[in-house]
Amino acid sequence: ELPENPMPWERESAQGLYLAQIVLNRPVDRVFHYLVPESMRSVLRAGYRVRVPFGRGNQFVAAYCVGVGPADENQPSIRLKAVEAILDNRPLFNAKMLKLTRWIADRYLCSWGQVLECVVPAGVKNQAGTRLVTVFELITAVPRAENEVAEVISKLPAKQRAVFDVLKSANKPLTLDELTQAANCGSGPVQSLKKKSLIRSLQKRVSQFSNGDEAAYAGIKKEDDLQLNIDQRRALDQLLSAIRGKEGSTFVLHGVTGSGKTEVYIQAIREVVSYGQQAIVLVPEISLTPQAIQRFRSRFDSVAVLHSHLSDSDRHYHWQNIAAGKVQVIVGARSAVFAPAPHLGLIIIDEEHETSFKQETAPRYHAREVARKRSELEGVPLILGSATPTLNSWLRVIEKKDTLISMPNRVNNLAMPGVNIIDVRNDARIRRNESIGRVLHTGMQHALEAGGQVILFLNLRGYSPALWCKGCGNSVTCPHCEISLTWHRDKNLAVCHSCEFSSQPPKQCPRCGAPGLRFVGAGTQRLEEEVRAKFPGYSCKRMDSDTMRGVGSHAKVLNAFAAGDVDILLGTQMIAKGLDFPNVTLVGVVDADTMLHQPDLFASERTFQLIAQVAGRTGRGMQGGRVFVQTASPAEPAIVKAAEHDFLGFSQLELGHRKEMNAPPYSHFARVILRGPQEERVQDFARQLAQILSDAASEKQLDVQILGPAPAPIIRLKKYFRYHFQLAAANVEAILQLWNEITDKLPREKAIEYIIDVDPVNM
Ligand code: ADP
Ligand code: ZN
Repeated sequence: ELPENPMPWERESAQGLYLAQIVLNRPVDRVFHYLVPESMRSVLRAGYRVRVPFGRGNQFVAAYCVGVGPADENQPSIRLKAVEAILDNRPLFNAKMLKLTRWIADRYLCSWGQVLECVVPAGVKNQAGTRLVTVFELITAVPRAENEVAEVISKLPAKQRAVFDVLKSANKPLTLDELTQAANCGSGPVQSLKKKSLIRSLQKRVSQFSNGDEAAYAGIKKEDDLQLNIDQRRALDQLLSAIRGKEGSTFVLHGVTGSGKTEVYIQAIREVVSYGQQAIVLVPEISLTPQAIQRFRSRFDSVAVLHSHLSDSDRHYHWQNIAAGKVQVIVGARSAVFAPAPHLGLIIIDEEHETSFKQETAPRYHAREVARKRSELEGVPLILGSATPTLNSWLRVIEKKDTLISMPNRVNNLAMPGVNIIDVRNDARIRRNESIGRVLHTGMQHALEAGGQVILFLNLRGYSPALWCKGCGNSVTCPHCEISLTWHRDKNLAVCHSCEFSSQPPKQCPRCGAPGLRFVGAGTQRLEEEVRAKFPGYSCKRMDSDTMRGVGSHAKVLNAFAAGDVDILLGTQMIAKGLDFPNVTLVGVVDADTMLHQPDLFASERTFQLIAQVAGRTGRGMQGGRVFVQTASPAEPAIVKAAEHDFLGFSQLELGHRKEMNAPPYSHFARVILRGPQEERVQDFARQLAQILSDAASEKQLDVQILGPAPAPIIRLKKYFRYHFQLAAANVEAILQLWNEITDKLPREKAIEYIIDVDPVNM
């Protein structure tokens, strides 16, 4: 340690030190200081990835440099370790991205290192698609006298001289193959020159990307922008003035399904591309259909699509192209919000209501909030588009924090589809455990006979969602999770949809031993069976995560449906989004109640969104379209308002409820989830943690309420017992401050893990 008052010369030596601030991919949010060796001083700066010794064993780990500079005089210089290596040719983060990632760490209570680690794709870290090759170059600065060198050169044998001349005229490093070919010799002369210290070998990284872009563009015709209608024109004009004014403001583009939002996005992007800038378009992963991608590729020369099936090498390729400013439009799911575009001009989030924009592992960020921050830092507009905006975004519109742009009509004067709510409580077929009631059946028959196509939506995969025992009235649950097992008939397996545990369905009840379990309720497998039996003359395809495992299987079914080879498409959420098929004249929501009855604060909002979105899949052609919603709660406001296409009415009602309950968006929640192998210990620990937080809140006078702890909705998950509690506050800052107050003082218990999720999307 330095003495309390350093002597002058000690001060001086401390000032002479050059230090790097380093963060690591660990949960603890801390900056470490490392010495920067003389050789790295001119290169290393914030944004580089480095290798440093860390921990007791001084093992080398990859880490991120977030700052460099001379040590300040109070910095104790003793026992500092040095940066071992710089890992990339250029920094991976610029100043704005460093700011953005630091903000995420603060806002979502995780470490800066975790955020940075999450932002850089694996393919970039392991430099996928590149390899090291040995190249040769002339040694120009020789530690010898000029004339001595000249003499050595003049005495070179012919072949060595040839090699030397090739390198001299090439004026760049060459590989052994290139050299021997140009000089017409073997490798011997090259080695001799090396021994004479006239040339040297070095390692160079070269890329061998399988230029994925050309293939992606094959067969895509360039198309002109469409002539906008009045609503679209007005929307675009508003956006253009923000783009030209370099405003970091947010627009909520509320446009009904089929109002032509995508065309507005495209023409707004056209503007920023004309300045040589880039645009980021975030869409839910399942909306990244070939149809959607083609729409962008037919309008722009350089579109990078970032989807989850990309190879490491492709991901690295896109990252480099984007960072080099060569890409005009980046279309991708959640993580594309971090695309390293150097001249960003615009960010768009389509279907902003989708919960998949929230990441469910650390860092638990919401891409919409990250985009909001990025747009502010970069001074570029953000567009949040949806037919059913989140109440979160809607409240910001009401409070005039964000600007509303409305497109209340479908293009080409198409009508919104008529929606029939069908009360199935007295339907004999539904009582007999069938899924398609009388009215829906007749509707399907008419639609199909008239040559139309049908989409059926059901939110449950598998054959039947429960194995029910008449004897004790219980259903069979997963041995690890306490969730009802779903029967998958095709493989005759009872499957847990949470942990994928599966077994043969038991012959008798595991609880009471009674024989003859019944399969109750229907999932998509059973629905498919029923459809095939009831509509034998028509072809039917099922789309859910069981049938869509393979890469490209999604596209295959959608292409067949678009070509008219499939009459009835049935499936889960996968078919609810973004599909645009003009020949779909009937959409059936098989069971609207499955979403409604979830014990979730947002269940009503989700139900409204899903019905409105599913309904949006029909009536896109001249034949019009109808929607049938089967429910046992026909008066439920979420269903009624969705049937009336009345977003305003629904939002008013639901915001009223939320305000009364002081729930989001009028407040913020953070959810703490604890898990461990022994229930009692988890419960005790949860109580202890909640008490510490509540004590700290009153001590620091922070207006944060602690709700709970209670068993989590799924108390057992994958062999762990789970408890949770919530922190609630009007301002999220109070929650963040409280957590930071206590985070160093928390007791530890080995067997118990806990996480905190700020602004969770499922509660
Ligand atoms: P949304 O995303 O709002 O649901 P889309 O952007 O998918 O709507 O547009 C629906 C359909 O209308 C698409 O087939 C699109 O090509 C077409 N369309 C959009 N704008 C126009 C326009 N100005 N003129 C003619 N057709 C349009
Ligand atoms: Zn399970």
